[in-house]
Amino acid sequence: MSSGIYIHVPFCRRRCRYCDFYISTNQKLTGSFTEALINEIGMFSAANGRRKIDSVFFGGGTPSLLDKKQLESILNALRKSFDVSEDTEITLECNPEDISGDENMAKDFHDCGINRLSIGAQSFNDEELKFLTREHNACDSEKSVINAMKHIGNVSVDLIYSIPGQTAEKLLRNLEKAKSLNVPHVSAYTLIFEKGTLLYKQMSSGKVSQNSDETESVLYSTVNDYLKPNGYVHYEVSNYAMPGFESRHNLKYWNFGDYIGFGPSAHSFFERKRWNNVYSVSEYIRIISEGKLPSVNVETQRDEMLVKDYFICTLRSKGVNMIEFNKMSGRNFEFEYRKEISDNLLLGNAVIEKGFFRLTEKGYALADSITLEFLR
Ligand code: SF4
Repeated sequence: MSSGIYIHVPFCRRRCRYCDFYISTNQKLTGSFTEALINEIGMFSAANGRRKIDSVFFGGGTPSLLDKKQLESILNALRKSFDVSEDTEITLECNPEDISGDENMAKDFHDCGINRLSIGAQSFNDEELKFLTREHNACDSEKSVINAMKHIGNVSVDLIYSIPGQTAEKLLRNLEKAKSLNVPHVSAYTLIFEKGTLLYKQMSSGKVSQNSDETESVLYSTVNDYLKPNGYVHYEVSNYAMPGFESRHNLKYWNFGDYIGFGPSAHSFFERKRWNNVYSVSEYIRIISEGKLPSVNVETQRDEMLVKDYFICTLRSKGVNMIEFNKMSGRNFEFEYRKEISDNLLLGNAVIEKGFFRLTEKGYALADSITLEFLR
């Protein structure tokens, strides 16, 4: 089976107040980062052989801060070290302000071989973008999608909802805008108040308050009730796609496939091993310059951990294949979890269909708490 490649580009112009990703605002390092990344790709394949891949995902940070030459050199390094299938999905996460004013940027991405753009629009409303402390405005969100659709076509728009003060009507305007621009894929995430972020601190000091569970649930239904009748398939808790536009790369995470992460803080799951790279660009560059791989926390998954991960990943998307679960664990899913299964079937949170224990729309909204019920 082919693996996926994740490339973490850790640079941003500044930190948004809700963000807890590993990023650096020192853009002077992009050149030495690219060089180190290319060396990491070469070292990995020298140690593990020329593996087959069919998806590449440039995530961040802000990968659209890299220029055409840097992207080309990274993709060439991948082709040199991996058996890259011809139809490989190559996604780049892009900030709206990077392509809204310059149509050629989207064309450049296309010319480099990028065939899918994931645009971090987050909202088409100026007030909401201001609250999120994003650099772009509503007009940039719209123009970036128009430019991306013109040159790439396979475009995903990220939206954040449950922003304090957001009403169902305002959220609906965002969804209608994405639909009117014909985007074939929408990722809709609730705003999370992650510990350690400025937003979390502001909440703790009473400057900002989180929406109630009731409001969040109304907004969740708004997303669902709008996108599904408009032709989008709800294929993962937060992801909707027109048929055929599901993200191959993300499906690897949710279907428990192998992926190899390159770049600072990137995570990997490859041949039953999990590891992550160091969380510092300068440390990353230094380790690689010494001819070593920057991976830490390498852990061979014990059978029990694999089973748990399999459950967590598949429950969020197509459901748990019970035969597969039984084979992996040597246990009987329906017997072991008879109480949890029957409770959730009775509440309408899940169904059993063609050998899969699958969440319903109602269950998707409760995915995290249902996962905990099974794993406690
Ligand atoms: S642009 Fe994205 S990765 Fe960068 S700080 Fe903002 S949310 Fe985080």
